[in-house]
Amino acid sequence: MTLIMALDQGTTSSRTVLVNARGEIVGQSSAPLDCHYPQTGWVEQDPLQIWETQRMTMLNVMQKTNVSIEEVVGLGITNQRETTVVWEKATGKPLAPAIVWQCRRSTAICEQLKAEGKESLIRKKTGLVLDPYFSASKMRWLLNEVPGLNERMKAGEICFGTVDSWLIWNMTAGNEFKTDVTNASRTMLCNLESASWDEELLAIFGIELSALPEIVPSSGKLAEIDNSILGKSLPIAGIAGDQQSALFGQACFEVGQAKNTYGTGCFLMLNAGPKPVESKHQLLSTIAWQIGEERTYALEGAVFVAGSLIQWLRDKMEFFQNASETEKMALSVQDSDGCYVVPAFVGLGAPHWDAYARGLIIGLTRNSSKAHIVRAALEAIAYQSAEVLQCMEADLGYPLQELKIDGGASANNFLAQDQADLLGRTVRRPKNAESTALGAAFLAGLAVGVWPSIESLKSCWQEDRKFEGTTSEDNRKARMKGWLRAEERSKKWLQ
Ligand code: ADP
Repeated sequence: MTLIMALDQGTTSSRTVLVNARGEIVGQSSAPLDCHYPQTGWVEQDPLQIWETQRMTMLNVMQKTNVSIEEVVGLGITNQRETTVVWEKATGKPLAPAIVWQCRRSTAICEQLKAEGKESLIRKKTGLVLDPYFSASKMRWLLNEVPGLNERMKAGEICFGTVDSWLIWNMTAGNEFKTDVTNASRTMLCNLESASWDEELLAIFGIELSALPEIVPSSGKLAEIDNSILGKSLPIAGIAGDQQSALFGQACFEVGQAKNTYGTGCFLMLNAGPKPVESKHQLLSTIAWQIGEERTYALEGAVFVAGSLIQWLRDKMEFFQNASETEKMALSVQDSDGCYVVPAFVGLGAPHWDAYARGLIIGLTRNSSKAHIVRAALEAIAYQSAEVLQCMEADLGYPLQELKIDGGASANNFLAQDQADLLGRTVRRPKNAESTALGAAFLAGLAVGVWPSIESLKSCWQEDRKFEGTTSEDNRKARMKGWLRAEERSKKWLQ
């Protein structure tokens, strides 16, 4: 057997899977990862635990599957994006907790830069919105708050990296300090056009070039892991941030192909082609991947609350015991009877970016039942995703061909059908829902010859089920209009 080992370092767990040449997962191991919340809005992780859990799952998957290391021909890495680690160059010792992507501690730094009028320059150069989500303001926060860190950076003694760099550093025994283009494009220090560190951005955030990793493509022989890790040296041949990796794993290789991951929130990503597309609709413009010299760009939009709305109905409203019951409940009524649930629990994400919006249920009558509310909740996930996709289509200038779906809630057939109905497009769900890990495996396998070309990867994507839009355009428009009216009422609720 010829196998690729794919490392999927996520926010809640570290996982390792083994993928064969047919694109099938033949073994996996995962370990939970702790998050710490030392203050409201702060989210931290232990960099050593990130690496240790990842290392354990690499060893465990080999043991569990009884695979010989000789069968593994390369490694792919995919990871939680934006999360920032700082360590000492000489020893590899972390100098602070990892600041997780969700952490809001650098809000004041972003506000200050907005006040200085830097927002549009940053957006133009990076494709990102000036928000604490991205790594640069997290790095600046560390430099301001960790005693001596700024001086040590100037002396060339520290490394700043996203999780991919941290893993690569550890897997190569400190020999390689590298990041791939997709992870670099989420730092807010990388120029979207040139895919290199941008001097002006480095100056704005006060970051020294010497503290940053070398930017490498997403596929290629990028580094060699130390033979102490698995008993054999192996090439790290694929690296991509989790959403980019899922786009690749969903085989969205052509311009206009898109995927939506229905997890806690929804992450939508569209292959935008060989040039960055400037979003006129508040989406992010980012790098999808680079293979050799060829770069592909993407448009991205996130919906903050999706599957977690179903969790809320289960745990707080106690409407049902299992998320999977929602499909039957939704289908037990003909429609939501005019009811809308707007899950703006933490404000609204793309394309509204309203931090002051809060959730509501509207349109209730004496006839409203649990089933109506459950149906409206699933529809809310589809409505929010449809809004982002419509923005993508507008930015792209032509309609999407289809939408590929994955993530825990994509198992819900009612939701998938409703998404197809609302979009008037085909929605396709793959047999293998592990798109994120698969993407990293594909990127690595391409570089080490498991697959000769992108073309040959297409057969690894196999359909589980296809959903076609069945409603009329009038109906679609009327429903969207109702949704937008409800959503409008949730906006600017907090004062
Ligand atoms: P994450 O990776 O963000 O933790 P997952 O992809 O594992 O999320 O998906 C889990 C989410 O999907 C949960 O929020 C859960 O409520 C939701 N979910 C799981 N199964 C279903 C289902 N059949 N119908 C609706 N929602 C579901």
